[in-house]
Amino acid sequence: MQVAVIDQNRKPLAPTSEVRARLLLKRGKAAVFRRVPFTIILARVVEEVQVPELRLKLDPGSRKTGVAIVNQRSGEVIFAAEIEHRGEAIKQGLAARRAIRRSRRSRKTRYRKARFLNRRRPEGWLPPSLKSRISNIETWVNRLALFYPISGLSMELVKFDTQLLENPEISGIEYQKGELAGYEVREYLLEKWGRKCAYGSETDLPLQIEHIIPRSRGGSDRVSNLTLACEECNQRKGTRTAAEFGFPELEQQGKKPLRDAAALNATRWALLERLKGFGLPVETGSGGLTKYNRTMRGLAKAHWIDAACVGKSTPEVIIAGVIPLEIKATGHNSRQMCRMDKYGFPRTSAKGPCTVKGFRTGDLVRAIVTSGKKIGRYEGRVAVRSSGSFNVTTAAGTIQGISHRYCLVIHRGDGYGINRAGARSQNSSPPKPPKLAAMDGVSF
Ligand SMILES: [Zn+2]
Repeated sequence: MQVAVIDQNRKPLAPTSEVRARLLLKRGKAAVFRRVPFTIILARVVEEVQVPELRLKLDPGSRKTGVAIVNQRSGEVIFAAEIEHRGEAIKQGLAARRAIRRSRRSRKTRYRKARFLNRRRPEGWLPPSLKSRISNIETWVNRLALFYPISGLSMELVKFDTQLLENPEISGIEYQKGELAGYEVREYLLEKWGRKCAYGSETDLPLQIEHIIPRSRGGSDRVSNLTLACEECNQRKGTRTAAEFGFPELEQQGKKPLRDAAALNATRWALLERLKGFGLPVETGSGGLTKYNRTMRGLAKAHWIDAACVGKSTPEVIIAGVIPLEIKATGHNSRQMCRMDKYGFPRTSAKGPCTVKGFRTGDLVRAIVTSGKKIGRYEGRVAVRSSGSFNVTTAAGTIQGISHRYCLVIHRGDGYGINRAGARSQNSSPPKPPKLAAMDGVSF
């Protein structure tokens, strides 16, 4: 991964290699500005800035979002990350709050009259779990744009390109015509047939494109004659039609076009609106195009690689030789003021102040203990105690009772956990791009 560089005016400059960054730091020409993303600040002001064309690319997902910064000229991925969202945690938190309020109401305490039908959802309202995903992405785009000279954004907006597939059932794109169209057709079929085998209930098997009425029996290549089947069912069906195979309803089902609404994803559109607010040109791409780009370049499947392959602007060659950061949205503190016993009465005293001696729970600190039983050097997340004697959680475990006097903040807690250790190299054995001339029997 390349190191972000800023000058004394905090203007982002061309990112540099880790070797050169280390040299600059050693010679005192730069200092570490930030740990994540790793950024160094030069000791001088740079007047004439020459920056490469960098594009920040996003593949938003429900659980994880892939992020990649690609040098458009060299095709090099200079930064990659996967953001793990906390949609489920938010949902659970809200459910827990609702349960607590409900139980309190039935206990005849003073508070919390039941309220209902007293809220109007504003236009563009999204559920909190989805909103949090968008905010996660926005935060990181914002953060990366501060330290890398980004000239454009790309995001995957839709599963398949409706332009390319306009009325696919009627106009009948022959799916073998044009490889890119083939990829769009696959995504379309996945969406239409619910990502499962049409002749069985298996969901996790690789699926193949299958003709409802086989070509040998006069069936066409139109999308309305195509469905998805696992290899086993495809083999068993052989040259029979779906009706002969015992699925007479499929023929009718195939002729029904997929409703547009099914392919539109409110979260992604809301994200697009937010991205437009950055004032950078935003390019959008389809899932079919992403998969096509990735397969043609012989890259493995990963969220961050998908991100690097989003959109028409993807360079001919993508050099994906970085280890991505694993970013996990952890949220900030808890809103609950004190813990309850099983009857709902306060069990603990109210929470203490969240800042103690300038430290906050969740900050990344380095503690060099020079005296006492715990002599040593520790680096990890701190949990503050009002006594000033903190707990530090390192990779090896939690060390209790470290005085604030030994601690130094190296990265402020910002609601995200970062992991580089669990990352694995993606460049080891990229799969060969499959032959795309005949799509029947190609697993995806
Ligand atoms: Zn099957």
